[in-house]
Amino acid sequence: MEDIALQYISCNLCGNSRIKVLYQIRAFAIVKCQNCGLVYLNPRPHPEQMMRVYDSHDYYFSGGKQTEMFYGYPDYTKLQKHLYFVADELMRPVRNIAPGKLLDVGCGMGFMLKRFQELGWESYGVDISSYATEYARSELGLNAYTGSIDKFDFPENYFDLATIVLTIEHMPDPRSSLQTLHKLMKKDATIIIATHDIEGLWPKISRSKWQHLFVPEHFFFFSHKTLKRLLIQIGFDIVKMTETATLASVTGDGHGLRIPIKLIHEYNLENIAVPILRYFHAIARQLNLSDEVTIYAVKR
Ligand SMILES: [Zn+2]
Repeated sequence: MEDIALQYISCNLCGNSRIKVLYQIRAFAIVKCQNCGLVYLNPRPHPEQMMRVYDSHDYYFSGGKQTEMFYGYPDYTKLQKHLYFVADELMRPVRNIAPGKLLDVGCGMGFMLKRFQELGWESYGVDISSYATEYARSELGLNAYTGSIDKFDFPENYFDLATIVLTIEHMPDPRSSLQTLHKLMKKDATIIIATHDIEGLWPKISRSKWQHLFVPEHFFFFSHKTLKRLLIQIGFDIVKMTETATLASVTGDGHGLRIPIKLIHEYNLENIAVPILRYFHAIARQLNLSDEVTIYAVKR
């Protein structure tokens, strides 16, 4: 393992540097901005060092083996059916919008992107991982570009819908990436962002044991409050906030519902079980019981 080059940053939401350490994890610290409450990793590995992680086959097929640098996925291809389902769930609130051009930021190997395309959207994906985007292009035949969103010459005011699903927490500079995306989107176009919510009940109870404290690959630990504030600052109006469509998180540790979800997929029980889960998730969101959030917003 190469040495980890640590990098210190100031708050991505308010620019302040006054922080309180919440949790010290090995060489890294999860800190909270004393001005605005944003929680983030500081110090963190240099983003270029993380890029080498995301470029590797091992990140997507870790076999469950964690390293100093990543948790990764035991076998990403096993998530295909679930990600199709998540894509459908995410699109439910926007199903009245006529399909146009869609950009999925952090498209990974492209399973959700493929589903968006099947749903009629002219779909484009970007992801910093050359490994994942190569898979999306060669195996799934998708328009998947390698690199960060700031590097492409998509026209401005081009996209009708943008999605960032469980990706914003990995971004080195979410503000800058969202500003870029804002330019690429048409006026009144919708953005859907799903991430973990550190201000839910479960992170508060489980503290340093919270399952989503993936250090160092998660650079940011947003909450429904901090993410909303960032979106409003950049020029979006919040339309709707729901439980994240992974439908996996009411129990906090994620595993409680992940087992049912696995069984639901296995026995094709989606039509029966999902409306019930959806109902529980709506309540969980209302009471802030959960630890994931999806925000729907439109470009002003
Ligand atoms: Zn701040």
